Amino acid sequence: SVQQETHGFQTEVAQLLKLVTHSLYSNKEIFLRELVSNAADAADKLRYKALSNADLYQGDGELRVRLSVDKDAGTLTISDNGIGMTKDDVINHLGTIAKSGTAEFFSHLSGDAAKDSQLIGQFGVGFYSAFIVADKVTVNTRAAGEAQAVQWESNGEGQFTTAEIEKAGRGTDIILHLNEDEQEYLDDYRLKAIVSKYSDHISIPVEMWQEGEAEREQEGETIPATEGKWESVNKATALWTQSKSDISDEQYQEFYKHVSHDWEDALSWSHNKVEGKQEYTSLLYIPAKAPFDMWNRDNKHGLKLYVQRVFIMDEAEQFLPQYLRFVKGLIDSNDLPLNVSRELLQDNKVTQSLRTALTKRVLGMLDKLAKDEDKYNTFWSQFGNALKEGPAEDMANKEKIAKLLRFASTHNDSSAETVGLTQYIERMKEGQDKIYYIVADSYNAAKNSPHLELLKKKGIETLLLSERIDEWLVSHLTEFDGKQLVSVTKGDLGLDDLSDEEKAEQDKQAEENKPLLERFQTTLGAKVKEVKISQRLTDSPACIVAGEHDMSSQMVKMMEAMGQ
Ligand code: ADP
Ligand code: MG
Repeated sequence: SVQQETHGFQTEVAQLLKLVTHSLYSNKEIFLRELVSNAADAADKLRYKALSNADLYQGDGELRVRLSVDKDAGTLTISDNGIGMTKDDVINHLGTIAKSGTAEFFSHLSGDAAKDSQLIGQFGVGFYSAFIVADKVTVNTRAAGEAQAVQWESNGEGQFTTAEIEKAGRGTDIILHLNEDEQEYLDDYRLKAIVSKYSDHISIPVEMWQEGEAEREQEGETIPATEGKWESVNKATALWTQSKSDISDEQYQEFYKHVSHDWEDALSWSHNKVEGKQEYTSLLYIPAKAPFDMWNRDNKHGLKLYVQRVFIMDEAEQFLPQYLRFVKGLIDSNDLPLNVSRELLQDNKVTQSLRTALTKRVLGMLDKLAKDEDKYNTFWSQFGNALKEGPAEDMANKEKIAKLLRFASTHNDSSAETVGLTQYIERMKEGQDKIYYIVADSYNAAKNSPHLELLKKKGIETLLLSERIDEWLVSHLTEFDGKQLVSVTKGDLGLDDLSDEEKAEQDKQAEENKPLLERFQTTLGAKVKEVKISQRLTDSPACIVAGEHDMSSQMVKMMEAMGQ
């Protein structure tokens, strides 16, 4: 007896499905990439589990995904013999979105289909993209090692059903009941073309049924009938194991989408095979857009880890420091044991040295990217604030990271962060030996601060910092290229290389205004340390200056906000 249960989708899934069906019409064919990508992931997961329990293969160890069509029924089936899903898996994975911050993300959608489809690409739709082309989706699945199979079914409108079913083989069949207008996906040639465009590099074969030929006569000879067979339509060699010269940019980009679950092209990548003391291959990508949950504390990140070409885990975050958490890609090590666990990675010599090497690699990649100003600006606008965490986190690479930082500056009339410290130093005035900056609540507050008056008068450039992270950054980055970074709101600026006349004038003014200064001092009392005449200002009458070793006013505000 089939016991069917009806479940409601999580609110966000229901919203997502509506969006998928209404706004993702520009590039519909990518649904196949997503479903094949999931099948490949399912194969990876089974291989991993079978490392410690080979029985899971149950005599069927040739992992593959198969596409088949039923023209009469109007269905396309994507069938794998990977890990499969239990009933709980089905309900959790095909009924909810397990990413934190999802609800918030959806609250930002505008209802404007074109705009939202941009956003949704950044979010990644995965399995749900099946509903771009299908008005009903049936999933039949049996988890490795389980006897009971389960069916999931939905028309994508708020609800899905589950039922216990019989299924001969392990793995998952995704049956798409194609929309009236999407019958093109029943065509073999069309399917083959899509597979080779998006899924050539997937590590398992994507197979399609090749009909046999009937017996026929040719030039008086009888050519015997051939039997039909499953034929692979992709290359099915893991992309990173191939040599660079055999891989096209398009293939790198498609592989990026598979490993990152991103829908957009990457900004750049670096593919390296290292031999010698350590043997590994790394393929690292810089995305063009930050994922929606990038600034979420529990955002999942990290590289895909393979050991000797066997998938081990996703989101291995031990191979790169936090401030480089935006990097996607994989590492395939020959030195780690196949049974390596997250705990084991934590405290492991191999991991440590890989981390050092990969960090260097990424910083090198960024240094190269910085030579292309447009691309680097794109990078910076998305990930700059993460990189600013670098000097505090990674002492060893401080100088390299500092070189990659970009700021707004009085040199430009724009809040865009485009000025690097190297560039600043090149523009320094004769005799200037410090890098000046101001931290304020906003770009405008920084730009219009009275603290800048003297520097402006002297034609000295000042970096204008106004991001929340900036105070943290400058408290850890006090020097670059042998030059001190100095806040213009603190202590002595080292700019009063006054001439004798100017010095005499300042002393005279101090003398003449002694009663006024004393009055200020007594009125303000303990609120200030000292009231004095200074050359710091040209237009404003007065300003507050923090002592060189005091907290900046910005830091004081931050501490207050934290209740201290
Ligand atoms: P993602 O691949 O980014 O995790 P998807 O929406 O593509 O997101 O898939 C959601 C989840 O559903 C997967 O993480 C996986 O747990 C499960 N899943 C989807 N397709 C399959 C499949 N063919 N075999 C096993 N599990 C699957
Ligand atoms: Mg997926």
